[in-house]
Amino acid sequence: MKKSFGDAIKERPLLGDGAMGTQLMLAGLEQGNCGEEWNLTHPERVLAIQRRYAEAGSDCILTNTFGGSRIMLNRHSNGGQVVEINRAAVAIARAAFGGREGYVIGDIGPFGGLMEPYGDFSESEVRDAFNEQAKALVEAGADAIIIETQTSLEELLLGIRAAQQAGARAIIGSMAYDATLDGSTFRTMMGVDPERAAEFIEEHGGSMVALNCGTGMDMERARQAVLRYKQVTDLPVMVQPNAGQPKLVEMKAVYEEAPEQMAQGVVPLLKAGASVIGACCGSTPEHIRAFRQAMDEYLKHENQGL
Ligand SMILES: [Zn+2]
Repeated sequence: MKKSFGDAIKERPLLGDGAMGTQLMLAGLEQGNCGEEWNLTHPERVLAIQRRYAEAGSDCILTNTFGGSRIMLNRHSNGGQVVEINRAAVAIARAAFGGREGYVIGDIGPFGGLMEPYGDFSESEVRDAFNEQAKALVEAGADAIIIETQTSLEELLLGIRAAQQAGARAIIGSMAYDATLDGSTFRTMMGVDPERAAEFIEEHGGSMVALNCGTGMDMERARQAVLRYKQVTDLPVMVQPNAGQPKLVEMKAVYEEAPEQMAQGVVPLLKAGASVIGACCGSTPEHIRAFRQAMDEYLKHENQGL
């Protein structure tokens, strides 16, 4: 029987996947259109992307459901298809492994606004939206739930609670940090630092602390975040940094960190104690393949007792 995701990461570090959003654009999704709807309308294109990640060596794949909550889907008038879209996403990610053992991580992104009193959304609206999405993902068979690109603890908590209520077996809280202007440290847009986030996730029953995306969060800053997480929690850590800083070229965001360059950060991350390493915006199957190589090389030497 397949080990649970939580047990698997106790035995060895796992390789995550790379970007979905930027890959969907390359596959023809137009800016502003609903990438999650593609789980129903163009499942073969979503599958093709995730299959390339699986073939590159990913052990876990995030579902194409970053914007799969009712609030996000409402923007594209797909709010009535929350269950179908999330269910299809789990099936596609599972199919990408082609029968090989792999972990499907149900992805919940931010609801895309601010809660009262700063914004227009009531807490109960956001809670309902996350509950609905988490339930759909877990019922479809996701091995874990990640609440990602989070900047506020209030919103993160609603995501954690939703995953708990849905019966998720593993719950990953993933924060998006931005490097400060002077580059000396990093925190989320809402001012949350890694220590606070890690303590909060542990306190509220999350099973893993993570980071993804963010501005200026390269492999080295991700490593610093892992060390800071590790100082305050024993929970396993997952990281998905971007492929460098986006540059605007002809009105398009271009990510310039090459696979080999980014992969140099893999071993330092493993040494810092990261349990899952993947990548976020701008990364490609080639990045993940380079990660796989670096990781395997390192683990081989580890096993030889070097
Ligand atoms: Zn990203």
